[in-house]
Amino acid sequence: MFTDTLADRFGRTITYLRLAVTDRCNLRCTYCMPTEGVVSLNHSDILSWEEMECLVRLLAGIGVSKVRLTGGEPFARKGVLPFLLRLSNIPDVKQLHITTNGVETAAHIPQLESMNLTGVNLSLDTLVPDRFARITRRSRFTEVQHTLAALLQSTIPLKINTVVQFGLNDDEIGEIAMLAKSHPIEVRFIEEMPFNGLVGETFACTNHWIERRLQSLFPGLQRNESQAGTASLYQVPGFQGQIGVISGAERTFCGSCNRIRITADGQLKTCLYDGGVLDLRKLLRTGATDDDIVSAIRQAVLRRFVDGHAAEQVHPSDKKSMSQIGG
Ligand code: SAM
Ligand code: SF4
Repeated sequence: MFTDTLADRFGRTITYLRLAVTDRCNLRCTYCMPTEGVVSLNHSDILSWEEMECLVRLLAGIGVSKVRLTGGEPFARKGVLPFLLRLSNIPDVKQLHITTNGVETAAHIPQLESMNLTGVNLSLDTLVPDRFARITRRSRFTEVQHTLAALLQSTIPLKINTVVQFGLNDDEIGEIAMLAKSHPIEVRFIEEMPFNGLVGETFACTNHWIERRLQSLFPGLQRNESQAGTASLYQVPGFQGQIGVISGAERTFCGSCNRIRITADGQLKTCLYDGGVLDLRKLLRTGATDDDIVSAIRQAVLRRFVDGHAAEQVHPSDKKSMSQIGG
């Protein structure tokens, strides 16, 4: 078995994989894709569950201990639960998470709970049904509400992801943040990033705007300095949970980035902005050995860019949708 860890030439060790299990989705969020959606991959171009499991096992053998399933919408692909169960039995995978829009999630929560999933991130941009329909271009709020209620009652650690859009939900920050008052959850407000399948947009709700808004709503807000990860976390006196702000534009966390991504069609991304640096599907389907694959991954990680700005210079953003990247 492999023993060395996976590290880049800047001394960053990779321990976290975000695996997009599909590019398909049952919503059409305005910040993620255009009205007509994006062209879906052919089924044969998407990694099979067996191929994905093989990659997770290889990565777990070189130090990847946290895996997050994402998409598209993970629950839009048949077979995600048995897949999660198999991953939960890989001893070196210590943390197993999923990011979901909640539309088809509620019914699966007891099973997620019984496999000791270490976290669910639920995307929730509004608590108002009409707004939900406007933001996601689908009327599925009731299902998401059921998922939220079931998750709040479950033992699974929960984080809420709210992308803040000016004129759509910027006035709901306070109400959504209040979910962390009576529940030990993390409510994270996300600065919109330019991955909505279009080009050349700028966004009004920056992370600074969100932070100022939170400070005016919750004057006792205090920064939690002992944090790790992409969110700046805050505590409000009397709240059981925490509030987070995730900056998309500044990329201040690149220096400690421990994550890689694999897209649904098997492209390895060592940075959100690198456009894909290794075709793992091709390796898997042309008889590469485990050693070949691990060695190719190591080489790709060694070529990793110093930060997202450098990656973007080499791979300027095209009309990518976050559903094709996995968030
Ligand atoms: N469909 C699932 C969901 O929405 O939770 C998982 C995939 S989605 C691409 C993963 C995360 O990316 C979600 O929390 C979503 O809010 C976030 N996201 C999508 N587009 C974004 C954008 N343009 N800027 C910032 N976050 C975005
Ligand atoms: Fe689908 Fe998630 Fe993108 Fe919304 S953010 S369209 S739920 S993939």
